[in-house]
Parts: sequence; structure tokens; C-alpha cells
Amino acid sequence: MIDLTITEALKKLQSGEISATELTRAHLDRIEKYGDELNCYITRTPERALADAAAADERIKNGTARALDGIPIAMKDLFATKGIRTTAASHMLENFVPEYESTISQKFIDAGTVLLGKSNLDEFAMGTFSKTSYFGAPISPWQLERRLNAGGSSGGTTSAVASGLAMGGTGTDTGGSIRFPCSITGLVGVKPTYGLCSRWGCVAFASSLDTPGPIARTVDDAALLLSVMAGHDAKDSTSSNVKTEISVPLQPILGDGKKLRVGIIKEFNDVKISEDMKNLFEKRVADLKSLGAEIVEVSIPNILDALAAYYVIAPAEASSNLARYDGVRYGLRVEGSDIYDTFKKTRAAGFGDEVKRRMIIGTAVLSSSSYDVYFMQAARVRRMIADSFNRAFDECDLIVCPSGANTALPLDSDLTPLEYYALDLFTVAMNLAGIPAVSVPCGLASNNLPLGMQVVGKMFDDVRVLQLAKHIEQFANIDNRPTKIMGK
Ligand code: GLN
Repeated sequence: MIDLTITEALKKLQSGEISATELTRAHLDRIEKYGDELNCYITRTPERALADAAAADERIKNGTARALDGIPIAMKDLFATKGIRTTAASHMLENFVPEYESTISQKFIDAGTVLLGKSNLDEFAMGTFSKTSYFGAPISPWQLERRLNAGGSSGGTTSAVASGLAMGGTGTDTGGSIRFPCSITGLVGVKPTYGLCSRWGCVAFASSLDTPGPIARTVDDAALLLSVMAGHDAKDSTSSNVKTEISVPLQPILGDGKKLRVGIIKEFNDVKISEDMKNLFEKRVADLKSLGAEIVEVSIPNILDALAAYYVIAPAEASSNLARYDGVRYGLRVEGSDIYDTFKKTRAAGFGDEVKRRMIIGTAVLSSSSYDVYFMQAARVRRMIADSFNRAFDECDLIVCPSGANTALPLDSDLTPLEYYALDLFTVAMNLAGIPAVSVPCGLASNNLPLGMQVVGKMFDDVRVLQLAKHIEQFANIDNRPTKIMGK
């Protein structure tokens, strides 16, 4: 049962061939077996899962089944879940139990999913390998003995979904945190258009960039999850009311003489990537061409400055968002000699090194002497990048590019913060521009590890992005069934 896709499982649930309780138990057993080794869940919720499953079985039986009834999922531990501890992988929120439900997790409840647990991540979603988690990093099920990283910040969800410890799950993507971990674990990750999925009840990192999205093993599954997550939310002031109709199975966007202009970003041609990534990317582009796509070169002149702009804007917003953790309202409190001393002691003890680093950078770039030189300059670069994408989409319908340069590295690789930041080169520009981007497996590298490439579209073109990703998925044809990956 572990190897079923969500789409397949839904059919079997509806026909009564399997029950939600059986499906849930199969996943809980597997969590029991491999959960500690993979470290993909911070909090497991087996009782809640079985209760959810029983309710789903009941609805399926009496003909009131919901869209995703009985599907076991992992919820990134950044989404507030009522009555269930929500930590953001931080000591600061280690014992925080929300009294409210985030919009996204509520939508999953309304769709009938089964909550298996809260998945691991980088502390406050700041990172690339999920190594900044207070609870230790999750690992990838691929070549398990090598202890490869599962990516970050949504690395708990990718570890769980790739290994069959969940059928799908949620992530958030501020600068690549859905797409990068998916690309190195052979999964499909969607960063939707900014504003398509509500941020309400999701612990804030950089509010103008944070984008909740789905993680799954196939493009259709990801689309199905997105159809449940998307939608206007009055509680989120940046939520969009543009209606996006997502229907699964996604229909082909190429073939039968259909016309589509697919853009390749000229500036990325000069970026050093692995031979494997280069070859697989070129192969998939040739495949799309063989289906009738017209390949055009487009220019996003400032795209290589996106990284620098991101690492000014994201820390700036983070330093402001994280000011709320002061030991007064919620979370950790370390008593000091007076209120200021309490602030200091609480924040010193509650945050890890990377979070502190971001807040120091953020506070510095917002200070009066640096604001114009750094923050305003970064904001200008951001606008130029968004404008360039808009212009590029006059010349092409969709854009494709790599998701990263390499396959997964061992968790204990010794990278400096700047080397980590550089891994986001291919993903951050889409967050700055607010446009949709999907990472889809494009094949296996010579070391038998998966690599991913992105499909990028203009604002609210999420469905076409997914449609093209599905063609790439079919050409790449990698086997990402959990029992295949783990050999068990
Ligand atoms: N790796 C990026 C960072 O550390 C992206 C994180 C994210 O998207 N949440 O900021």
C-alpha cells in the first residue's frame, strides 16, 4: 500500500478495495519502523491519524466522501495545528501548543486527510539541509547508508514522502524550501503563485516571500494537494482572490500539434552545474522539443543578483517577524533580572545560530545608515527581476531551468553559511517575483541519485506550469516508489 500514489489510493478507497484505516496503519507501522532513523517527524500523531481514518471510512461508506478522504499526510511543523504542538523546529517554540488551526491545515482537515504528524524542518524554515532544526536533521531515504541530506527547509516532509512515511505533505517556500528538497529526493514540489495559498497560521519567516505549497511523488498528486490548499482567505491580507481551477488528471499541454514556447534563461547558461544536471536538463529540453515545443532563449538580466537581494530582504523581514519571540506572550521564557534581561536571556537561549545570524543581518540592513545602500537597493533589484520575468513571458509561455546544481550531499558536509546560501541560486528569483515554479524530477544522475528541474510561469499560470511538469515527469520516468528507494 505504501507505494500507491494519492491518485491510485483514492480510487481504491472509493471502491472499497482498501480502507483508510488500513492505509493509515500501513503508514504508522512504517513510521514506527523507520521514523527514528529518518528523523522526519518532530511530533507524531498516531491517535489523531486513526481517528481521522475512522471518520474518513465512515464518510466513504455513507457516500459523503470528501476530496482527499483517507489520505495520510505530513504537515510541515510551521503550520499551527490546534491542540498539537507546533515548534517551527525551534527551542523557542518547543512546547508551543496553538489554540487555533492554520488555514492550510484546516483545508486538509476539511478535505478529509489523515494527519500522521508534524514534519521536521530548518529552524523557522531558515536553511537548506534542515540541519538548523533544534530536533536534529532528517535524512534522505536514497542510499540510506550514506546519510544524505533530504534538503531544506521542508526536509522532514521530503524525507517522509520519499520513504513512504506519508503519501504527500506540505512545505513552505521562501527561497526554494519546497523545490530544492524535492529536487534532491526525487519528488515533485510546487511553489505556487504568491497569494494563492494562505499564510494565515503559518509561522512567519519573510512574509513577502513565504509561500505554502504541496510536496508529492507525482505531478498529478501535487496538483491534487494544491487544489485543496489554494483559495482566497480573508484572514491573510495578501491572499489573492483570483480563482484557479485545478483539475486532475492534468491534461497534456504538448503533442497533437499544440503550440507552446518554452524559454531557457540565458544568464543561467554560464552558471557552473554538474555534468549530470547539464545533460539531463538538455535531454528533457530536447524531449519537449520533440513534442512540438518551440525553445526560445530569454534574458532575465539581473537574475544572478537575486541571491544577494534575497539574502538582504529575507533576513530583514525575518528580523522584524521574529521580534515577537520575547518570552512574554508565548514560547520559551528565561527569567532575567528585569524585563530587558528577560528578553535577552530568552532570545539568546531560544534561537539557534543560523536564526541569530539572519536577525543580525536583517537588523543591520534595516538600520538608518544601511537602509538605502542595502535594503532599498535589494528592493530595486527585486522589482527589476519581476519586470524582466514579465517581459520574458511576452516571448515565451513557460520557462524551464535547473532546480539546483548537484545531487544530494552527505548531511555532514562541511559548508560555510555562504556556501549554503549559494545553493539557492536557481530558486530565489521566483520568490522575489512571486511567480509559480514547480520542481519535477528530470532523471537520475550517474551516481543514481535524482535531480530536478523547474518549470516557471507567470503569475497565476500555476496550472500550465504543472501541465508542462507532467510531460517532463513522463520523459524522466524515474522510479521513486518508496520500497524501490529503500529496498524494503
Ligand atoms: N535556503 C533558503 C534560506 O535559507 C530558503 C529557505 C526557505 O525557502 N524557507 O533562506
